[in-house]
Amino acid sequence: GEALAVSARVAPLGSRLVLLLVEDLTEARRIEAVRRDFVANVSHELKTPVGALSLLSEAVMDASDDPEAVMRFAGRMQIEATRLTNLVQELIDLSRVQNDDPLEDAEPVRVDELVAEAIDRSRQPASTKQITMAAGGTPDLHVWGHRGQLAAALGNLVENAVNYSPAHTRVGIAARRVTAPGGGGTSQAEGRGGLIEIAVTDQGIGIPDKDKERIFERFYRVDPARSRATGGTGLGLAIVKHVAASHGGEVTVWSTEGQGSTFTLRLPEAGAGRDRSSRSHHDH
Ligand code: ADP
Repeated sequence: GEALAVSARVAPLGSRLVLLLVEDLTEARRIEAVRRDFVANVSHELKTPVGALSLLSEAVMDASDDPEAVMRFAGRMQIEATRLTNLVQELIDLSRVQNDDPLEDAEPVRVDELVAEAIDRSRQPASTKQITMAAGGTPDLHVWGHRGQLAAALGNLVENAVNYSPAHTRVGIAARRVTAPGGGGTSQAEGRGGLIEIAVTDQGIGIPDKDKERIFERFYRVDPARSRATGGTGLGLAIVKHVAASHGGEVTVWSTEGQGSTFTLRLPEAGAGRDRSSRSHHDH
């Protein structure tokens, strides 16, 4: 009786263990495939501007007796070089947010400052298209996190809102508190504090339903030609998603094709409880 009972107890445990191992292997294979895909994608993305530069330099040499053509080719070389620079910079940004733990350098960050900085970053392209950018919502809010990473995340959302909107439209950025401090949140990092929501709303081209999940993947674009034309790398939303998640928050999208999009960044509020725990952490 005793032996039977024991083996009955071990058997389900054993099969669960096997299942876990199989799941682990599958997950390891998936991660490996994603890594391989990423390297293949990076290589492809690098090859495009490098190939163009190589062809254009040949064209310049062939057109050496036609100064107008030389200038035209040189202009296109400049565009390709900028594209290459943007891509390398975004790859560095992505690897940085993936490798650095943002909570090691976390501090209370003023949302008003993040918003002003994001607006500033897109001022040039917005004014070219006569897009109005307006900040609103609750003033004087603070989120808890890595200042540089949060600025990069919000900056990317505002940049996209401007990039994927026609002329004479409006981009709105509004912040508000969605959970009262001490109200108890859902995520671990959120601790006792509340949640701050920063919504970036545009009146742009919108995103088809079938693409809404995938736009957060590295190098995924709804319309690759349009993304490249606006200087997009396809990495922006992957960076935003990673920053949100590593701060214990999230980014979501609401969009109607042809009407516009709202990207909402939810981040833990800098609350009294969190500040105290971080200070005591530094004291030890
Ligand atoms: P990209 O550098 O191409 O902008 P992102 O990762 O920032 O890369 O965005 C991925 C894709 O999601 C974009 O290529 C575009 O198709 C779509 N997208 C992002 N933001 C918006 C927006 N505000 N409105 C419409 N489409 C958007």
